[in-house]
Amino acid sequence: MGTMFGGGNTITLFRIRGIRIAVDWSWFLILFLVIFWLSDFYGDLLGQPGSSTEPYLLAVASAAGFFGSIVLHELGHAFVAMRNGIGITTIRLWIFGGVAQMDRESDSPGVEFRVAAGGPLVTAAIAAILIAIGLISVGGSAFQDAIQLQVSADANGLIAMVAWLAAVNLIVLAFNLLPAFPMDGGRIARAIAWKITGKRSAATRFAAGLGRVFGFIFIAVGIFIAFNGYVFSGVWLALIGFLVNGSARAATMQTSVTSRLEGVRVGDVMDNSPVAIPGSITIEKALEEYFLRYQWSWFPVVDDQERFLGMIVRDRIDQVPEIERLSTVVSDHLEEQSRAFHISQEALLESLLGNSDMRRFGALMVTDGGGRLAGVITVEQLGRALKPQ
Ligand SMILES: [Zn+2]
Repeated sequence: MGTMFGGGNTITLFRIRGIRIAVDWSWFLILFLVIFWLSDFYGDLLGQPGSSTEPYLLAVASAAGFFGSIVLHELGHAFVAMRNGIGITTIRLWIFGGVAQMDRESDSPGVEFRVAAGGPLVTAAIAAILIAIGLISVGGSAFQDAIQLQVSADANGLIAMVAWLAAVNLIVLAFNLLPAFPMDGGRIARAIAWKITGKRSAATRFAAGLGRVFGFIFIAVGIFIAFNGYVFSGVWLALIGFLVNGSARAATMQTSVTSRLEGVRVGDVMDNSPVAIPGSITIEKALEEYFLRYQWSWFPVVDDQERFLGMIVRDRIDQVPEIERLSTVVSDHLEEQSRAFHISQEALLESLLGNSDMRRFGALMVTDGGGRLAGVITVEQLGRALKPQ
């Protein structure tokens, strides 16, 4: 997982509970290489040419299993994030692995730790299940040979596949747990430093420093491997080194901005006298007394206890037929899912950076502990708080 890794054109494969699973064109290169390389491997193992049916089918099944393992790893992050109120829109796979794109950053070290650990935990579970299957099927020493990719005379194709997938998941686990921010281990290191110091920016600088060191190590090791005959693996690792190094550097630079927000809460900078429309008035009245009067494109809507109900948008009520405007009330025409467009006044201002709801309206509603509308925070207010004083 690394939300800072680059963009690119993607193809949507399927959706799971609203999360889009997409692949970048570069992912197909990896799939192709895995199938190509494994066909030969299984061919040698079974004493058949790599181009014959059985080695090829095993190679395709292994590539599918590898793909599934990476998706499950990312879903591990996504599941924990969503349980902690962080939205996940897309899981993207590309040549350097998977990325679960979160709509905002964690607002506590505990959440950061759990989200970062969610993926490796799933990978560890997959490896444990595969190893258990292997041990039960062929026993300890035969499976150990298989997992070390040693060709043995009594080799079984399916067990070799289980062993290969177990080995790959163990490698993915070990690699991700290196404290190379923004990789998982680096995020775990940041969460721990954040918990100890109580300061997110200081923790990010520490983890990003480690990330830069690991980036240089990956580059050096990658070049070494490439010159020793493993050109693709070496170049791949060196490129990961460049990415990790660049992302870590960007994260360090970003902290010089976000450190100004340290400890500032949403309630400290919001506009605390927002204009809200009561949900019980008619559309006609809302148009006359609010939309025409203020000329805004949206308003928050509250119930008679001042509790936030959602948003009402001009474009949408313009489409309500005249005849219905007198008979229907504002709360019948709330913008879809807009009930979620609020944040607690106690939330840290920095948790708003990258908030996708805020991007959509240019503002976010602020509520108090009782769910009552306490204010509105706009992108401009956030921008002012970010500027050097
Ligand atoms: Zn991960």
